[in-house]
Amino acid sequence: MSRIYNFSAGPSTLPESVLLQAQQEMLEWHDSGMSVMEMSHRGKHFALIAEELESDLRELLAIPSNYKVLFLQGGASAQFSLIPQNLLNGKTKACYLNTGAWSEKAIKDAQAFCEVVVSASAENTKFTSIPDAASWVIDTEAAYLHYTSNETIHGVEFQNIPDSKGLPLVSDMSSNILSRPVDVNQYGLIYAGTQKNMGPSGVTIVIVRDDLCGNATKTTPPVFNYAEQAKNQSMLNTPATYNWYLVGLVLKWLKGQGGIAAIEQRNITKVTKLYQAIDESALYHNPVAIPYRSRMNVPFILADENLDKAFLSEAEAHGLYELKGHRSVGGMRASIYNAMPEAGVEALMAFMAEFERTH
Ligand SMILES: *Cc1c(COP(=O)(O)O)cnc(C)c1O
Repeated sequence: MSRIYNFSAGPSTLPESVLLQAQQEMLEWHDSGMSVMEMSHRGKHFALIAEELESDLRELLAIPSNYKVLFLQGGASAQFSLIPQNLLNGKTKACYLNTGAWSEKAIKDAQAFCEVVVSASAENTKFTSIPDAASWVIDTEAAYLHYTSNETIHGVEFQNIPDSKGLPLVSDMSSNILSRPVDVNQYGLIYAGTQKNMGPSGVTIVIVRDDLCGNATKTTPPVFNYAEQAKNQSMLNTPATYNWYLVGLVLKWLKGQGGIAAIEQRNITKVTKLYQAIDESALYHNPVAIPYRSRMNVPFILADENLDKAFLSEAEAHGLYELKGHRSVGGMRASIYNAMPEAGVEALMAFMAEFERTH
């Protein structure tokens, strides 16, 4: 067996120890006589897995007790439509910051339910920056302000919590949740698909403040009604049990790494070197304004795009995979979530230097 370094944006690389533990527990979880996949979601074994999943997430993110934590399906994409249905509460407008491809999708889907006020847009910079907060137009009659804390495709990340001028703040944290500390108290709602930084695909985390729960429109499907799911411990429908278990293992791994403060330091170390190598090279270029560069997704373009193919195939020959940039921006992208070891980033940098020397 030889495992590669996988720089995929998602589903993405998982800690090897998590995969090994899942392998060991595949046929029998603890003394249950069965695999987690085969357990009733209402049984005592799975109840333990579910309880620990929630308590570990609460501990890692220091989630206050007046927030519900939901584990849903449908991905972050479903939330694009579900957030307005659950949060508008009779209001007709919602504010959105448009900082990249995922913001654009969130905006488009919300438009079916309300008037979207685009409070700021970085489209004119091709999403390589974040507009200065002084220029944002925030409508105080809107139900909430939505932003994407890390734009996975464009490699743009908010380094601070935006000022929502008193509106409940809603954030898509799909690709940077658990990578750095976050003050949950500043948010009305945080959501994230699990397949970037928390585990495999198939689970969507929603962390929502109590007072924003319970106002869904009558037409909201019960499985997508936050209050209904909260009342039912996210088991109104049969949950993705095995995926909950795997996310739980990733959270335990993260606790073992020293938690979020420790992993943040490692993420900073990894990404600082990589941007430095890109900035110092004549072949590679990252277009994002320095203060907004993502710690998780590092896009870079080659000075000559005719070299793209050779770059990708030679990278694979060095065990470095999934470096092709998203088709909408081209070039390359290295996603270096929590589970990407520093050795993976170093292997990538060594290859990039060698490729530059030989081309
Ligand atoms: C991947 C991603 C999504 C979409 O996630 P799905 O689980 O495929 O719906 C949404 N927002 C961001 C920021 C993402 O990175």
